[in-house]
Formats: sequence, C-alpha cells, structure tokens
Amino acid sequence: MENLIIVGAGPAGISAALYAARGNLNPLLINSGIGALEKAEKIENYYGLEKPLSGQELFERGLEQAKALGVRVLDAQVLGMGGFDTFEVHTTEGTFEAISVILATGGKRKAPSIPGIREFEGRGVSYCAVCDAFFYRGKEVAVLGNGDFALHEAEELAPVVSGVTIYTDGEEPDFSREHSIAVNTMKIQAIEGEGHVEGLRLHSDMTAMEEGKNVPSFMPAAGVFVALGTAGSTEMARQMGAELTEKGNIKVDASMSSTIPGLFAAGDCTGGLLQVAKAVHEGAQAGISAGQYIRRKKGR
Ligand SMILES: Cc1cc2nc3c(=O)[nH]c(=O)nc-3n(C[C@H](O)[C@H](O)[C@H](O)COP(=O)(O)OP(=O)(O)OC[C@H]3O[C@@H](n4cnc5c(N)ncnc54)[C@H](O)[C@@H]3O)c2cc1C
Repeated sequence: MENLIIVGAGPAGISAALYAARGNLNPLLINSGIGALEKAEKIENYYGLEKPLSGQELFERGLEQAKALGVRVLDAQVLGMGGFDTFEVHTTEGTFEAISVILATGGKRKAPSIPGIREFEGRGVSYCAVCDAFFYRGKEVAVLGNGDFALHEAEELAPVVSGVTIYTDGEEPDFSREHSIAVNTMKIQAIEGEGHVEGLRLHSDMTAMEEGKNVPSFMPAAGVFVALGTAGSTEMARQMGAELTEKGNIKVDASMSSTIPGLFAAGDCTGGLLQVAKAVHEGAQAGISAGQYIRRKKGR
C-alpha cells in the first residue's frame, strides 16, 4: 500500500511531490507526459526566472528536481480510480492502492464537437462508466475514444450492458493490449434521439457502398460514454463521487481537499487562475494536507 499517489507531473504535481517527499511520505508520482506547459513557448512571469524558459524546459527541470529528491516516478496513464476508505488507481502499468491521492492532471478536456453531444448530456451522454453503467443494464451502448481509457470504460460497461462498441470517429485504434470489445472506426455524423440518445448516425462509407456492401449508417445505442484521449481530473473525480464546481472543475476547500476524504486536487484542475504560480501554491498545500491526512489515518 502506498502512502500517497500523485497523478500528474506538471507544476502542481511536482510541487506536491516536493513537499510530500520532504515530509517523509515517499510519494509515487504517476505521469503520462507533459501537460499544458507543452504549448507554453516562453514562461517569464514566474518567480526566479531571470530569463524566460520554455514550457518544455520548465517541465523537465521540475521532473529532475523531484527525482533528485528521491521521488519515484512512474510513466503510465491513469485510466480510472476506485476504492472505499483507501484508493485504487488503475493505470496502464497495473493497479496501485494508496491511503491518499492528489489529482494534478491539469485542465478539463474539451468535449468533442459531434452534433448532439452537448444536447444529450445527462440524457444518454455520460462521462463516467462506473457512475452510470447501472442505468444501461441490458442495453446496447457506445464508447467514444480510441485508446486505453476508452477500452477501460468499455470493459467497465461490458458486464452490465447487453453490448458495447467503441467508436473511434475515424481515428486509428491505439490500444496497448489485446481485448475482445467490438470497434467501429467510421466517422460519426451525429448523436440522435427523441429526448434521449437512441443511436449514432455514421457518415456513409463510400468505398463500401461502391463495392455494393450494405453498411448501416445508424447504429442503435441507448447510451454514449465519452472517453477520448486520457482520463482527466473531472473523470477521475466523478469516478470517486467527488463534487465538481458549476464550471466542471474539482471542488476543493482551503486545504485543497476535495469532498472525498483523502482525495486532494491542485493546479488547473481546480479552475481559477490558470498559471504556474497558482499551480505551485496549490500543489504545496495539497502535499502538506495529504501528509496530515495520512498521519491521522495511521494514528501518528
Ligand atoms: C500556450 C500556453 C501558455 C502558457 N503560458 C503561461 C505563462 O507564461 N505563465 C504561466 O504561469 N502559465 C502559463 N500557462 C499555464 C500553465 O502552463 C498551467 O497553468 C500549468 O501548467 C498548470 O499546471 P498543472 O500542474 O495544474 O497541469 P499541467 O501542467 O497541465 O500538468 C498536468 C500533468 O498531468 C498529467 N496527466 C494528465 N492526465 C493524466 C493521466 N490520465 N494519467 C497520468 N498523468 C496524467 C500530464 O501528463 C501532466 O504531467 C500557459 C498555458 C498554455 C497552454
């Protein structure tokens, strides 16, 4: 059992790791590459930067600083979370258990611009398989995505629903392991239904039509689960039942605790000022608060 798992190695995650390591918590930092800093050409408004630094360099320096302090870094994608009392963190490298978790996964993912997706949110379009699978028991459902996160969500649904298909919306499937879930790679034109999702309208497959094949362009589905790219903070918070703000960020108190005891959040995923300085401050606070929580749990 880990004391503390920190998800994300941006300014918030690294700052949390520095404080947690110095507090003797021996944290495990899980990270799937650079986040928002990738697009930051130059950072010049952060303390101590006499000359501007590229986002990439700041990210690399942060990682090296954490490693130099003895922080264990695992290159893996977090696919989902679960657990009761303690936390289970499901990753592409296996499942880890921890007393406390800090989410520092950066800003919210954008919803895809497929017509119908916004309109049917809460009426068939869902962002959390583990939360909503039960509503679709015995029904056919779709998962949108093309990677391990989509596969993880489809496998959560499979035992409950009558059938599940992953729709990649024209993207190449990019799964890191073998699986038995059906995959459809056609482009999606729209999500359709009368008041509630009834299925997906697909673009016509011209090649198949020219070959005289009968390819259906409407695929029935009572639910559409969005799982594009990697799991983000919002998805992970939802899976744990943590409250979100009206803007869809993780709701935290002054100690950076979410509404779930032992689950903390820091950085862009809590909304507000989306800047390195704020992420570093929140990460430091989360690292300290998680330490206090873990010591209380252990009775020390
Ligand atoms: C173009 C641009 C320019 C900017 N310029 C500035 C500037 O000049 N000054 C400034 O202060 N700020 C700037 N910012 C904002 C700044 O980059 C962010 O506020 C800051 O990086 C947020 O830090 P974070 O740690 O919360 O998230 P991020 O830096 O986004 O880090 C998120 C981390 O989470 C990891 N992660 C996400 N999902 C998973 C998963 N499922 N499994 C495992 N790991 C995961 C990622 O790999 C990454 O390591 C800029 C942002 C952009 C986009």
